[in-house]
Amino acid sequence: MSIQQMIKRYPSPGRKDDVPTLFHEPNVETGFRATNQPVQYYLLSLFQPHNECMNAWTHLIGCFIAMYCIHTISHEFNAYNDPWMYPMLAGSITMFAMYLCSFAAHTFHNKSELWHYTCFFIDYAGIGLFGLGSTIIHFFYCSHPILAGSYLYKLAIPVGFILCINVCVCCSISKAMYSRPYPFTRKLWQLTSVLGIYVWLIIPIIHRMYIYYSSLRDEGNWDQSFDDHLLQIILFVISGFFFASDIPQRLFPGKFDIFFHSHQIFHVFIMLMNVKQIDGMSEDIRLHLPRIKTMEDVPTVWNTFGAVLLAGVINLLVVFMFHQVAKRRMEKEKMMQDK
Ligand SMILES: [Zn+2]
Repeated sequence: MSIQQMIKRYPSPGRKDDVPTLFHEPNVETGFRATNQPVQYYLLSLFQPHNECMNAWTHLIGCFIAMYCIHTISHEFNAYNDPWMYPMLAGSITMFAMYLCSFAAHTFHNKSELWHYTCFFIDYAGIGLFGLGSTIIHFFYCSHPILAGSYLYKLAIPVGFILCINVCVCCSISKAMYSRPYPFTRKLWQLTSVLGIYVWLIIPIIHRMYIYYSSLRDEGNWDQSFDDHLLQIILFVISGFFFASDIPQRLFPGKFDIFFHSHQIFHVFIMLMNVKQIDGMSEDIRLHLPRIKTMEDVPTVWNTFGAVLLAGVINLLVVFMFHQVAKRRMEKEKMMQDK
C-alpha cells in the first residue's frame, strides 16, 4: 500500500472550526489535522499538505544539514580524540536536540490537548539546550584572548546553564498559563527568556567585533569567521522578527495557511542561522585554535558534555512538571464545562 493510500484512510486536514480552540493559530484558517488519531496518522501527515507540514520538514532538514556539517568538521579535525573538540561535539548534540524536539512537537502536537502542551514543553527544552550549546561553542572557540582571561569567561557555562533552564521554564509558563487567543504578554515570556540566553551566548562575538572596530587592542584582520558570525546575528534578528510579528498572515489572513506563515519562515531563518553559526565556529577553529590553546584551559567532559547532560535532565524534569500542570488545568476546565 502506498503512503498516499494509507493517508486516505484517515481524515483530511480541516478548517479552524473542526479542532478545539487550543490548536487555533491567529490568521490561519485551514490545514488543521484531526485530533485523537493514532500516532501513525501524524507521521503519515508529513507527506500531505497541512499547516504544520513545513514546520516539521524545515527542522528535520535542518537536523540533517547540521549533522552533515558537524560530521565534515569532526572528520577534518579528528574530533573524537581531541578534548579541544569536546565543546564542538557537545554543542552539536544540542543542535540535534533542538531540531528533533521541534520536529516532534510540530509533528505530534495535534494528537490531543495534553500532547499539544507536552510537545511544546519539549520544544522549549530543546531551545534552551541549544542556547547552552551555543554558549559553550562561542565562549570556547570564538572568544578574544582578552575575554578568555576574564571573570565573565569563567561564568560562561554556569550562567548559560541557568539561562537554559530559564528558557524552558519561562516558555512553559507562557504555554501553561495563557489561553487562546494568546495576549502579547505571552510572547514576552518567550522572547525575554530566549533573548536572555542569546545576549549571553553572543557576548564573545560582539566583544570581538567591538575590539576590531574600536581598534583598541586589535591583534588581527577581519577574517572569514566575522562574516559568518555577522550573518548569523542578522539571520537571528530576522527570525525573531517573524516569530514576534505574525507577518505575513497578519496582513493576509488565510493566505499563508499551508506555506510560508510566520512560524515557518522563523524556522527557515533559524536553520540558516545555525548553518552560519557552524561555518563561523569551524572557521574560528581553523584559524584560531592554536592561539586558543595557549589562552584557555583544556575543555573537560564535565564543562561540555556534563553541562549539556545535566541541563537536559533538568529540562526533562521541567517538562514533566509542566505536563502535570497542564493535566490538572485540563481536568479543571473539564469539570467547569460539566457543571
Ligand atoms: Zn517551531
